[in-house]
Amino acid sequence: MPTIIPLADARASSQREALDRFVRAAAQGARASGAVADTRGRPLRDLRISVTDRCNFRCVYCMPKEIYDADHEFLPRAELLTFEEITRLARIFVDQGVTKLRLTGGEPLLRRNIERLVEMLARLGNIDLTLTTNGALLAKKAPSLRDAGLTRVTVSLDSLDDATFRRMNDVDFPVAKVLAAIDAAAAAGLAPVKVNMVVKRGTNEASIVPMARHFKGSGHIVRYIEYMDVGATNGWRMDDVVPAGEIVRAIDAELPLEPADPNYTGEVAERWRYRDGGGEIGIIASVTQAFCRDCTRARLSTDGKLYTCLFATAGFDLRALLRDGSGDGAIGNAIAAIWRQRADRYSEIRTENTARVPKVEMSYIGG
Ligand code: SAM
Ligand code: SF4
Ligand code: SF4
Repeated sequence: MPTIIPLADARASSQREALDRFVRAAAQGARASGAVADTRGRPLRDLRISVTDRCNFRCVYCMPKEIYDADHEFLPRAELLTFEEITRLARIFVDQGVTKLRLTGGEPLLRRNIERLVEMLARLGNIDLTLTTNGALLAKKAPSLRDAGLTRVTVSLDSLDDATFRRMNDVDFPVAKVLAAIDAAAAAGLAPVKVNMVVKRGTNEASIVPMARHFKGSGHIVRYIEYMDVGATNGWRMDDVVPAGEIVRAIDAELPLEPADPNYTGEVAERWRYRDGGGEIGIIASVTQAFCRDCTRARLSTDGKLYTCLFATAGFDLRALLRDGSGDGAIGNAIAAIWRQRADRYSEIRTENTARVPKVEMSYIGG
């Protein structure tokens, strides 16, 4: 069984101390605001915010039950960023050029009063504010999230076959409730809903075409995601990945597709539309067709660390700055300096061996 790196160890490491020194030095620099680019010319545009490391599912590819069991230590409450701290950081990120905010986790709808955070973030102005959820609590919360200012929602659903889905979420959660949540989100005005399906070889590839068939013509957009080697607990192997090309060919054989242009540079999903006008699907080929070249995403962990790549091994502690009285200018300087030195391109250099390098878990860093 792979070992999970205790956060406490990561915190104590010399790498972490070096990162902390970097953040502090950067905060002292000259005032920086506006667009900032990294070493590969990529601007900072998107911020994914993990609002909790907890989840009510135990998806086999994300939080396997054997590791995330009753003995697993989740972050204590005092370690979490407060809504005020998240909003303050988000404002500073927007000042640095961020235009898209996504709330995620863990399961973001488990965070109490999440609508209040949505409302606070929506007041930041002209930003695209979205949320990714497993849907378990969405049917109830969709209207209040919409009222609070959420613009769109992404719902994860790995199969329409009930037995397969229950096996994958590993808490016996039924498909019907997620479908009802998608309907509720659409009824509340959060449409089109994006529906994320992680495809794992030998587990749910038989669900690829039924999923396309079900959502074709609904206005919702299924996004097929190649299974990734995030974290250190899911026992990823390259053989478990169903390549994007295979997914497209399977759908196209029954429901003819044609490529569609990206909506904007850096869009994660490759777009395909049905030739008969029945809508579109997206393919997120992070393993077989890496898109690091255009990656404009930063991630803020539940406890306020900034990660410049989903596969990073350590993050930059922004919470320390928030809690030691640093001003917005100093925090903005730190963020700009961190982004300027960014050189991440993990998916371009991934091999079976890099997959074994310890990385932070997706539920903590935010998917
Ligand atoms: N709990 C929420 C959910 O499941 O939608 C939000 C957090 S989850 C980490 C965000 C997204 O990451 C989900 O769509 C999930 O399916 C995807 N994900 C998790 N582990 C993955 C993996 N190993 N490979 C690819 N996608 C993964
Ligand atoms: Fe929870 Fe989402 Fe991870 Fe599934 S993918 S275990 S729902 S955080
Ligand atoms: Fe971005 Fe890192 Fe993913 Fe590449 S591997 S697309 S740099 S998050």
